[in-house]
Amino acid sequence: MLANIRIVLVETSHPGNIGAVARAMKNMNMTSLTLVAPKIFPHADATARASGADELLAAATVCATLQEAIADCQMVIGASARSRTISWPEVTPRECAGLLAIEAQYKQVAIVFGRENSGLKNHELDLCRYLLKIPCNPAYSSLNLAAAVQLVCYELFMAAGDQADRVAIDTEPQANAAQMELFYQHLHQALTDIGFIHPDKSRSIMRRLRRIYNRAQPSSKELDILRGILTMSQGNKKNG
Ligand code: SAH
Repeated sequence: MLANIRIVLVETSHPGNIGAVARAMKNMNMTSLTLVAPKIFPHADATARASGADELLAAATVCATLQEAIADCQMVIGASARSRTISWPEVTPRECAGLLAIEAQYKQVAIVFGRENSGLKNHELDLCRYLLKIPCNPAYSSLNLAAAVQLVCYELFMAAGDQADRVAIDTEPQANAAQMELFYQHLHQALTDIGFIHPDKSRSIMRRLRRIYNRAQPSSKELDILRGILTMSQGNKKNG
């Protein structure tokens, strides 16, 4: 289970935090770290704060975009200190770990953490199935990045301990994030073509549609059917 879960850090400012995250992960037996456009990396502060977990830093994948970082994942979870106006289904670290004890046995999973100063943007949460929120003092709810990663990894580690008791559900492979993105582009185009949305005023409706399809977790085969319907509704116009 833990081997299929990657921690993704988006545009981290302080290299020391990246090192502290590597340490937090190694403590909890997690190995897969992806950095999206880190401000400064590699850096001596990262190595110093990793404190013996520097092999995780050496093995970290560095990507230019979040889309690239999660392209092969079938489950993406975004960690945020703030609730949002359009609510995503929220989970606590414990609920998240309970869920992943099953799902991460046969799916690639990404847990995405935001910038120290501004967190994750809504368009980044649009790529996520769940919003992970660590319950805490509502008047002071923003944890240090590495502290947040530590708590989440601890719950994953605890849940991994009793995963032998759980039975993996053998299902059709779920569509990955890259396939979902192509579907959303196609959906947007088809809805524009049939005059349902105006391309410049479609953000809110597309966000709601994403929520529906993210909740449904379609398989690749199911996406093919949906895209076939879209193509027909466009008058058989071919779409990438
Ligand atoms: N000031 C930012 C928070 C930055 S903390 C904001 O207002 O959003 C850096 C990252 O740590 C966040 O993006 C989030 O991924 C994680 N984090 C911090 N506190 C959290 C909490 N209470 N629940 C879930 N994630 C949290």
